[in-house]
Amino acid sequence: MHLPTLMLFTLMVNLMIGCYLAMVYLLRRHDKSFLIWSLACVVFVAGGCAAAARPYLEWPILTYVLSDLLLLLSPALVVTGLVLFLKGRFSARSRQQVVLLLTLYLLLQFMLHQVNNASTALTSFGIAVIFIYAIPLLRQSRLKPAFPVYVLQGFFAVHAVIMLLQVVLVMPLIGEDYRAISLPGLQWVLLGHVLLTVGTGFMLPLLAFSHTESQLLRLAELDDLTQLLNRREFLKRANLTLSSSRRQQHSVVVLMIDLDHFKQINDKWGHAVGDQALRKVADLLRVGLRTTDLIGRLGGEEFAVLMPNTSAAQAAVIGQRLCERIAHHGWEIEARPVKLTVSVGGASCVGAMRELNELLAEADTALYKAKSEGRNRIVFGSEAG
Ligand code: GH3
Ligand code: MG
Ligand code: MG
Repeated sequence: MHLPTLMLFTLMVNLMIGCYLAMVYLLRRHDKSFLIWSLACVVFVAGGCAAAARPYLEWPILTYVLSDLLLLLSPALVVTGLVLFLKGRFSARSRQQVVLLLTLYLLLQFMLHQVNNASTALTSFGIAVIFIYAIPLLRQSRLKPAFPVYVLQGFFAVHAVIMLLQVVLVMPLIGEDYRAISLPGLQWVLLGHVLLTVGTGFMLPLLAFSHTESQLLRLAELDDLTQLLNRREFLKRANLTLSSSRRQQHSVVVLMIDLDHFKQINDKWGHAVGDQALRKVADLLRVGLRTTDLIGRLGGEEFAVLMPNTSAAQAAVIGQRLCERIAHHGWEIEARPVKLTVSVGGASCVGAMRELNELLAEADTALYKAKSEGRNRIVFGSEAG
């Protein structure tokens, strides 16, 4: 391996990734993480250039102290960008800790810069600590999808091991008149370092994009107010569930749930209280139904439920319990005593042999009947059995 070529290659690749991340930042100005990650690459290149000047310049403050500081700052900036991406801000306490650790590092560097190879060992150790710190940080983030997180954690772990290996290799050379950079094993360490830096540079945007996309998809599927499925998503998933129930010859039930005299709540207490009441009912639906049931807000104060693998008799019991639970539940919303009831219309079919539209229409007719029979009750359509 020709060390100068390897170094040049490393620096060029990092510069390219830095430019790429800067371009991403220009497209996503709200996300400062990309700017910081881009800066991390530039800082790495600057540190690398200063280190490359070691054989030619007898100026250790630049070629050792400053270059090592920059090489340490680069992963620190990567992690700073991650913290910003995950938490949206950098807390004052974390800032203090970073300043304290950097000061300590600089002090040690300054004290040791006359001792051959000491700064290399110190810097490698510092970089390993930064990567080790970032691994649990990523785990706590619970980012979705998890695959880029795992890959990045793997990169950080291997990178930390490589840096610790570098410390082990350099330790015996501390104070010796032989520069660690000439150590044959160190070239492999450097190669690993290059590959991992490049890999990390590619993974960071992937992590950010896949996470943002999954958040956007979620936003597109859920109703803003209640966080239940919105109409489009409910209908889409209900059709899929119905098809799979048909294949398995399972019975399904559709419920239409409408809040009784809800207009009066708005008229009496205002729209904001009405909104809160809708959220409370949605919470009760979530708690009162099974995790396999699909629950959606079809619009206004109307909800729909699709219960797979359920008979009309089972659904009647569950629906009745739901009516009672909501009717007996009083809420205090903005200091107003809010009481609500719901009416439920149900439609069922054995073996899921009917279309969703038909089931919804029948449940709607049954709901109308429940309203006209006095509300706060569940009524099943003609196919109930
Ligand atoms: P019924 O028992 O016959 O269903 O009477 P109702 O008053 O519930 O029915 P109606 O269709 O007359 O009124 C529905 C009301 O629901 C009118 C509307 O102001 C209210 N509403 C619909 N969507 C929302 C919403 O997102 N927030 C709030 N606060 N109110 C809503
Ligand atoms: Mg209503
Ligand atoms: Mg209605």
